[in-house]
Amino acid sequence: MSQPYNRVYNFSAGPCTLPVEVLEQVRDELLNWNGSGMSVMELSHRSKHFGSIIEETEADFRSLLGIPESYHVLFLQGGASLQNTMIPMSLLPEGGSADYVVTGSWGQKSAEAARRVGQIQVLWDGKAHNYDRTPEPAALQTTPGAAYVHYTSNETIQGVQFFEDLAFSVPAVCDMSSDILSRPIDISRYNLIYAGAQKNMGPAGATVVVISQDLLDRCPKDHHPMLDYRLHTANASLYNTPPCFAIYVCGLVYKWVVRQGGVARMQEQAQAKSQLLYDAIDSSGGFYSGHSQKHCRSVMNVTFTLPNEELTNAFVKESVALGLDGLKGHRSVGGIRASIYNAFPKEGCEALADFMGAFARRNG
Ligand SMILES: *Cc1c(COP(=O)(O)O)cnc(C)c1O
Repeated sequence: MSQPYNRVYNFSAGPCTLPVEVLEQVRDELLNWNGSGMSVMELSHRSKHFGSIIEETEADFRSLLGIPESYHVLFLQGGASLQNTMIPMSLLPEGGSADYVVTGSWGQKSAEAARRVGQIQVLWDGKAHNYDRTPEPAALQTTPGAAYVHYTSNETIQGVQFFEDLAFSVPAVCDMSSDILSRPIDISRYNLIYAGAQKNMGPAGATVVVISQDLLDRCPKDHHPMLDYRLHTANASLYNTPPCFAIYVCGLVYKWVVRQGGVARMQEQAQAKSQLLYDAIDSSGGFYSGHSQKHCRSVMNVTFTLPNEELTNAFVKESVALGLDGLKGHRSVGGIRASIYNAFPKEGCEALADFMGAFARRNG
């Protein structure tokens, strides 16, 4: 089960595992990037070298998701969490209202942040079912005149996911932090997409925002500069110093995804990898119970519980000893969470599935 460089299988929810090929390239280029005589960490963000990095990074991202020129792509800081505030501050007008779909902890946080800014309507909230499901899309009727509707495509903590690009009659804003680039999307269904980099794209520090021109036109003029999508767009993400190194690594990850066969291939792999773990849950005779209902089981974060706390702790302890790291579930759900983003190798899922079977046989 030994991996290159004695690495472990890192099931962490984020920051999380990156492709070894990318890390090797970062290592090889660390001291002198492309003949510049410097590390990317030392390059001026105004230099032509960094200009070429951010331009290529944006171009590769656009081509992976099929994002046309009528959308802007920004690389910002502050994580997805800042977007939770920046979005209502930019898009929720005085006296207006926005709709929120609350499918788990991140949807809740987004709604809480928006409530501090203005009025929102919660269209649907999965709390009564302990966030074990996504709603039927038909159940989501937006409020006429809503400034936008916000939803979370994949709830990283609960492990419930939407597999379709929801269609709404008001502008759609989606937090795709934990499943961006894991499947093809129909970009025309969205007006704003945001994602912190540290799950499916690269190291923490960069946040990608995709915003349509028509939504940008609704943003206030002369807003607080760092919260101003117009200013960031006009300056092509270089209004202030961007997270240069994180952007560079995201760019290498995008090229890696291209080499793997693009997001359609990522989707196939995510389905196959998650299936190994869901099969291990379903064939355990009830020893493991999946948190999510079957129709919306996340292909990125597989969450399940064991019969009791003692067995859960033993499971975590034994898994770590086998080089299966980061499996302890989030405190709000308990149990186990296996985060298996794009860069997570299938062999790691096979190893976990084997261990799950053996552990259940010994303790069931
Ligand atoms: C991790 C995560 C966030 C928070 O991201 P930060 O970059 O830490 O602010 C928000 N939404 C989702 C769905 C996440 O998975």
